[in-house]
Amino acid sequence: MEVKELYRQILGIEKPWRVSQVELDIRAERIDVKVVHDEEVRWPCPECGQLLSVYDHAPERVWRHLDTCQFKTYLHARIPRVKCPVHGVRQVKVSWAEAHSRFTVLFERLAIAVLREANIEGAARLLRVSWDEAWNLMERAVRRGQKRKSRRVVKKMGVDEKSLGKGHNYLTLVYDLEEATVEYIADDRRKESLDGYFSLLSLAQRKEIEAIVTDIWDPYLASIREHVPGAEDKLVFDRYHLMRHLVEAVDRVRKQEHRELKKEGLEVLAGTKYLWLYSQENLPPEKRSFFTWLKKKRLKTARAWAIKESFRELWDYRSLAWAIKHFESWYAWAIRSRLNPIKQVARMFRKYLRNILTYLKHRITNAVSEGLNSTIQTIKKMACGFRNREHFKIAIYFHCGGLDLYPVTH
Ligand SMILES: [Zn+2]
Repeated sequence: MEVKELYRQILGIEKPWRVSQVELDIRAERIDVKVVHDEEVRWPCPECGQLLSVYDHAPERVWRHLDTCQFKTYLHARIPRVKCPVHGVRQVKVSWAEAHSRFTVLFERLAIAVLREANIEGAARLLRVSWDEAWNLMERAVRRGQKRKSRRVVKKMGVDEKSLGKGHNYLTLVYDLEEATVEYIADDRRKESLDGYFSLLSLAQRKEIEAIVTDIWDPYLASIREHVPGAEDKLVFDRYHLMRHLVEAVDRVRKQEHRELKKEGLEVLAGTKYLWLYSQENLPPEKRSFFTWLKKKRLKTARAWAIKESFRELWDYRSLAWAIKHFESWYAWAIRSRLNPIKQVARMFRKYLRNILTYLKHRITNAVSEGLNSTIQTIKKMACGFRNREHFKIAIYFHCGGLDLYPVTH
């Protein structure tokens, strides 16, 4: 087989295009393949498909293709332009690349597969492209995926904030809990941040949202109440976030008590911080007997811990009436506890009780998105090279957006 025909076949060049020249540069480890088209061909207008003869040619362009063995391989061509009576002078489409790309479709597909497995630096090294080129391939993939995506209704929705490094720098993320995808990312954690997502949906679509789980965060609540019909029955406070409030309260009680005891020369609470954060069944086996001993010490911290553990039973109820009963007796206990951090949380829970109890109906948590969170955490770690938060957003969409990223081969 002649080398031009060989290249035509392995590069997947179809008529009316053919390979006119193949050049090998051993030193530069590259192969340059020139393709030309038959004359007398009529080309479809890229807008309306009308067949037209060549008007002129655009200047030569170069696309990086898949490597040939260790050689970087480049495709060269001048793309014909047609003059459509309706659409004017337009460049025709070619089968091997998308418009405005410096890479062929096959190369982009490989790059996306590599980028899904590696960080930008690693992908750039493996693909032998620059950081900017690798970044650009990722960004193009996300834009492509977003263009294809139709705005469907997320029936079970999670809303979460994500801090970006130090200071009050946040992103708001909207999750599809059933698909475990990040549907939307906005700057900050203001009401407007979430409004932006709802504004993409029609009223009919917003009606179809069945349940939304989020943290107790007033700007989000305001947005949900404004945009989601029937929000009061759909809104669920994430039980893990709620437990975190209690765990933090226990920790505050411990810190304060530890300080008081130290003044009297007692070190009984020293080094116990993490023991009180566990729930009973997650306590490491080797710590159990010590913890049982510790709990008997008539400590305020032990009382706070017991109140926290008792609250957890709420999640197991099936009947709303029984759950309310449990809450009321728990609340009375917490309020009488003389432990200020616990009392504060108890009052907050009472204020928001209605949407704490909606958990019993919807049984949703942001736990799915906790899984996503670990992916996002990894992206953040890989993201040392990301120059701004837009980059971070693109990477989240790339890895967690559930988008159809790949360009299609013709
Ligand atoms: Zn046309």
